[in-house]
Amino acid sequence: MFEKWNEIIIVNGIERHVEIRWDEVFERYCRIIDRVGLELTKQEDFSEKIDEPCIFCSRGKLAKFDEKFGVKQIENDNAFLFPNINPYAKYSSVCAFKKHYIEVGEFSPELIQSNLQLAIEYINKVKKMDDSVRYASINWNYMMPAGASILHPHMQVVADAMPTTYMRKASNEKFEKYIDEELKRERYIKRIGSIGLFVPFVPFGFNEVFGLIEEELEHAIEEIAKAVSSILSYYHSIGRNSFNFSLYYSMENEFPLHFRMITRQNMARYYRNDAMFFERLHFETILERKPEEIAKEIKGFLI
Ligand SMILES: [Zn+2]
Repeated sequence: MFEKWNEIIIVNGIERHVEIRWDEVFERYCRIIDRVGLELTKQEDFSEKIDEPCIFCSRGKLAKFDEKFGVKQIENDNAFLFPNINPYAKYSSVCAFKKHYIEVGEFSPELIQSNLQLAIEYINKVKKMDDSVRYASINWNYMMPAGASILHPHMQVVADAMPTTYMRKASNEKFEKYIDEELKRERYIKRIGSIGLFVPFVPFGFNEVFGLIEEELEHAIEEIAKAVSSILSYYHSIGRNSFNFSLYYSMENEFPLHFRMITRQNMARYYRNDAMFFERLHFETILERKPEEIAKEIKGFLI
């Protein structure tokens, strides 16, 4: 299950190493190379970007649900949810924090919980309205290097009768066996209530954390928020200010409820993107830190 091997390459008389790992669930390799500074740690001032006029701060201009949905937008103290003007699927919405700018280290469990509550309310609502809906995901691009087009923090909720490519691959009998095994291995981090956290053997990105949620989605909101907030505190502690998050939900339990989080490159002008030909055109992730090292580091952090 955890197959890996090493290549030794001599360059200019110096030994260089490439570790290749095989992910048998998603049928892909990843390569862990010697350190070359792939991950940006440098931080730049982007206050100019923070100060730009923001559409999410003008709620009157944002899209509204039609009468069939019942309310124009859903909201609570810290967040509001509205239809995505550029939908990705049959049901596609944006769940924004009310505050225009929040630093990575400032996302408290309460703040994240507010957003998740609205996202789950939306999923339950569309499920009631349309019984063909079988899959949903709650996703987050934080900052431009992670794919956000608007700096104001917001999650995106997608629900559909069709799975995404990832969900289709995750609906595989090897997946559950793999997760059970990871929870016993050295990459296991800790448990937060019903959530088991580990760093995958073959990550999809930098500093990845995988969270298995062994509880119904709506009963696990507080614990998910606590886990995500703790992981973000770790990202903040290692100087990262951009990340992606996805929570994957199969209403018919074709795969276990879980989430993945990765860091992306920091907000820096003329930065080097972390998705190059290997990631985009060969489906392989290039890393320079071993998952076991990350797990050990986070373990010491998430007390
Ligand atoms: Zn704003």
